[in-house]
Amino acid sequence: MNSPADSAAVRRANLSLVLRHLAANGPCARTDIATATGLVHASVTALVADLTRRGLVEEVGASASGGRGRPRRLLRLVDQRVRIVAAHVTWQGIRLMTAGLVGEPADAGQAGHPGPLGPPEAMADAIAAAVEEAVSPSPGVHLGRLVIAMAGPVTTGRAPAPTRGIGWHAPTLTALVTERSPGLPCPVEVVNDADLAALAEHHALHPHETNTPHTVAYIKSDSGVGGALLINGRIHQGSHGLAGELAHVPVSPDGPRCRCGNHGCLTAYVSTHAVLAAAGLGRDTVPQGVDTALAEFTRRLHAAETRALAALEQAGHALGAAIQSIVGLTDAEEVILGGHLADWTPWLSPGIDARLSPRRAVFPTLPVTITPGPLGPQAALHGALRTGRDRILADPAVVPSHPTHPVSSGTE
Ligand SMILES: [Zn+2]
Repeated sequence: MNSPADSAAVRRANLSLVLRHLAANGPCARTDIATATGLVHASVTALVADLTRRGLVEEVGASASGGRGRPRRLLRLVDQRVRIVAAHVTWQGIRLMTAGLVGEPADAGQAGHPGPLGPPEAMADAIAAAVEEAVSPSPGVHLGRLVIAMAGPVTTGRAPAPTRGIGWHAPTLTALVTERSPGLPCPVEVVNDADLAALAEHHALHPHETNTPHTVAYIKSDSGVGGALLINGRIHQGSHGLAGELAHVPVSPDGPRCRCGNHGCLTAYVSTHAVLAAAGLGRDTVPQGVDTALAEFTRRLHAAETRALAALEQAGHALGAAIQSIVGLTDAEEVILGGHLADWTPWLSPGIDARLSPRRAVFPTLPVTITPGPLGPQAALHGALRTGRDRILADPAVVPSHPTHPVSSGTE
């Protein structure tokens, strides 16, 4: 026996099924949706009418029906009905971007913050102020979600907030930002930026849902070293949200002592500062800042300058050791390199390959591919927008009826 709660849940799931089909395949006709989803035509008609009332779906022209009957009216998602807001909080500041359900993301400015070591209340104040400045609610536009990509470890669940060092407790920061954003009537979500970047890079590399790799690891180095694990295209967070935090994984027991107390941590070889210092472009040599040093490093790499090449050969071996452990543990078939590592992949590959060659010899038909991520520094923002959009597609009933949208009576 189905309870009313069960039928409401089934209806919400079916609304999602129809909307996701249109997001992936639209424009298409009601008949196409019925065939692809297995829903009966009458149900599709009712679900489309519901989605149209919410302003999420509209009719757009018609296609020939193959010689029989009337032309079939085509449906598509309405991009601007829902707005998703993404905020990327790095060590340097806050960068914002917004997007609708299908269109291109738009830059929404940047702001400063009090630094990653202060109390979460001060960070929440800065994020709320930046979002309020960048996003003004407009009539007919439903603010779907604010997704905040935080640099540094982000713990989840009931784990206590980090008490020292760098890190954020997602539920605490979510509550603080929500409290400080009375003008932003939408759910807030806090996620580690490497997790979101990994998600975006993975979908950019594998846009279709078929034939995507089962297990994918992601390692990035930009303002910090981080990583993520994706299983079936979804972030695997681990017990506390810390899966993929690779910065302090030891890759060489007799390596240099790290600030964490261990020796030979991955970050000591592949962080931006470590690579620049190894190339002779550390802070003492290039006081103008990291961007200047990076530009000079790139120039020297392309000029095949010995010390620059050696810095990335060493980083490649360290990465290879980390990848060897990750692949041994997770059986990942693809490792995506993000941040500066993506640009440096050609020079990192020899070191990585040297470390992976024994495994490749043992399992010659089961390759592990190393892929540079294509998205650059905006990967985390793209991942945040994608996450917000997926939340709406998963439950379109959170979007209220559109105040002015005409009700469709179409059935074709
Ligand atoms: Zn360390």
